[in-house]
Parts: sequence; structure tokens; C-alpha cells
Amino acid sequence: MEVGQPVVKVGFVERILGVNQVTAQRALSTLAKRGLLVESSGRSRYRIWRQPELLAVLDEYASTIRRAEQPPRRANVSSLHSESMKITVLEGDITAADVDAIVNAANSSLLGGGGVDGAIHRAAGPALLEECREVRRTKHVRGLPPGEAVATGGGNLKAEWVIHTVGPNRHQGQTDPAILESCFSSSLDLAAEVGARSVAFPAIGGGVYGWSPRDVAEAAHRAIVTGRGEGRWEEIEDVQFVLFHETMTSVFCQVFDHDQW
Ligand code: ADP
Repeated sequence: MEVGQPVVKVGFVERILGVNQVTAQRALSTLAKRGLLVESSGRSRYRIWRQPELLAVLDEYASTIRRAEQPPRRANVSSLHSESMKITVLEGDITAADVDAIVNAANSSLLGGGGVDGAIHRAAGPALLEECREVRRTKHVRGLPPGEAVATGGGNLKAEWVIHTVGPNRHQGQTDPAILESCFSSSLDLAAEVGARSVAFPAIGGGVYGWSPRDVAEAAHRAIVTGRGEGRWEEIEDVQFVLFHETMTSVFCQVFDHDQW
């Protein structure tokens, strides 16, 4: 492969086809299998092998790719019940989740970013960014610290609220799992406070912030077991983990399945 060859990212495909990230990722994997792209550093960057063909194929397959777009699908396992809280592990795009509140794995600036943060902002529209700016002007002038959470409206999402929390960034030496656990519990505290009965979580910290699927699943699990043990969040009936990858889904299922509710 030549140095300096152009790179196509998932976000580009999302934008030009107007599809969500899961669909764009699937489309790119298919094109890679057809030899039109070569996977580069990680799953979301592909080097363009033959650019004219790539654009032609994207164009040709646009409607098929769009049709493939689906709401989150249920993973094989894991619909777990405690006394009143149902916990489900799903695989798919969290922006399509049909819940009262979606949790966003934001960064401290709250002004949008990549990964799930970017997807949520794109789906929610500019009203969300405006609300985040307002939060920065008022409640969190220096940004939202890791482990804490703040709520805004959901803009164009089905969800009424977005709860923004910031995972600890392992790459910046923030390696305390208690902070990651706190992301889940602060978000549930806030969800209960705004009156949400159903909440969807992504794998906070499990992307660019560098936590392993097991770390994330165990932090989520500890947060819920501890909080429920203390009698918190009784109003929340439905907690969904809407995860992007099979590995993440299966680890969450293992961690939550072995539980005694
Ligand atoms: P962090 O910075 O907290 O690590 P990221 O956004 O980089 O957050 O990743 C968190 C997790 O969210 C990763 O597992 C990533 O694959 C996943 N993710 C990215 N987009 C979506 C989406 N649209 N729906 C659900 N999960 C997503």
C-alpha cells in the first residue's frame, strides 16, 4: 500500500448516504470483502484501494444500504429482571433506541465528538449542541468532570432526554474503575431525577477512551447491583445496553447473565 493513499472513514459514508453508523460500517465491511477497500488502523478507517469504483459502488448500492438500516436488534441472551428493573442487552445503534433517556458517552467539553457522541448529536440535531453550550455557560463552565452526568433534552431523538456523562480516559492516565462505575450510577441518578422510566446506555469508555469490554460491563454491573442494593432507582423499569459490537454484547451478556437477581 502506498503512503498517503486516501482514507475513507465511516462518518463519510454516513454523511453521503444519510445512514447510521452501524449501516455505514456494514457497507464498508462489504466493500472491503469485495476488494474495493483495505482495512487500515482499526475498524472505522479504510484505505481506498480504487476510489472511482468505490464511489460508483456506494452510489449503486445506496438504496440497498439504506434499506438495511434497522433499529437495534435484540441479542440472543440477557433479559434479566430484578424486582422491578428489567435489564436488556441489545446490539445496534443507540440513537434508534425507544426509551425515555439515552446516555451519551460525551467528552468533558460537551461540545460533541466522535463515536457514539457524534452519532447522538447528528441524530438529535443542532438543538442538542445548543443545550450543551448552555450547560457549559451555566453549570459546567470548566467542562463536565469524568464520572459525573448532566441532562439535556433529546432534540430530534425519540428519547425525551439525553444524559451526558464523561468516561475516564485511560490514555490520559485516568485508570480508576470507580470513576467508570460512577458514570453509570450518576446517569441513573439523573434519569430517576428527571422521571425517566427507561434508559439506554452505550459502552461508556469502551471506545476511544480505551477500557476493555469486560471493564465496562463490570463497571455497569457493579453500579447497578450497588445502587439497587441501596434501594435506588426504583422508578426505572427498563435499562438497556445498546452496544455496537458482538464482542461487547457477548461480554455484557456474560457479566449480567451470571448474576443473582
Ligand atoms: P468513549 O470515548 O467513552 O470510549 P466512544 O464513543 O469512543 O466513547 O465509544 C463508546 C462505545 O460506543 C464503543 O463501544 C463504540 O463502538 C460504541 N458506539 C459508537 N457509536 C455507537 C452507536 N451509534 N450506538 C451504540 N454504540 C455506539
